[in-house]
Amino acid sequence: MNQPASGHIYIITGPSGVGKGTLCKMLLAVEPNLTLSVSATSRAIRAGEAHGVSYHFKTRAEFEAMIAHDQAQPDAGRHHLLEWAEYNGNYYGTPRSVVQEALGAGNNVLLEIETQGALQVKRKFPSAHLIFVAPPSLEELAHRLRTRGTEAEAEIASRLEISRHEMTLQDRFDYVLVNQRLEECMNAIREIMARTASGRSLR
Ligand code: 5GP
Repeated sequence: MNQPASGHIYIITGPSGVGKGTLCKMLLAVEPNLTLSVSATSRAIRAGEAHGVSYHFKTRAEFEAMIAHDQAQPDAGRHHLLEWAEYNGNYYGTPRSVVQEALGAGNNVLLEIETQGALQVKRKFPSAHLIFVAPPSLEELAHRLRTRGTEAEAEIASRLEISRHEMTLQDRFDYVLVNQRLEECMNAIREIMARTASGRSLR
């Protein structure tokens, strides 16, 4: 797959409940030329979520048909998905066409995805900027997951188990930020965006 002509890919990754979604909303409100990639998922829609806004909601069979299509298609430029992963029993994936159209139009693209998918995008687009958002502690992460109230206790327990593993992968990302305070974390991401857009490196 070709490198983006002008737009950059910024990937916000890290454990569930760390605040990735809130950070992305805040970034979209202030950053010009930033397009959010709306993912596809086979997980059930939650109260307050909307089709095509939160996710493109698919059945498992629909998602598996996209995976089968891509596996049979040698031309990556015709794949449905740029990356996909199974997370806690559900499929999640980034539609390829939306990302490529935005990059082609010179826009920067924001992906909010889990760690396996983030590493897949990096393999396809080595210039993508991988930002791992970590919680101040696993105890604080558990507290945030419980207070957001979107998952039952069993689901929270398995998400925390996955988080423990994801925390061990931090070294593989370009930047690691601790989300102690949302505003500070957002400003740190904006700083990365400003420096990378102007070709300067923070590392
Ligand atoms: P949730 O069920 O809480 O909406 O998402 C579960 C996890 O899947 C989160 O860590 C979220 O960032 C991640 N996720 C959302 N969309 C995608 C995607 O397109 N690809 C991958 N690999 N992960 C995603």
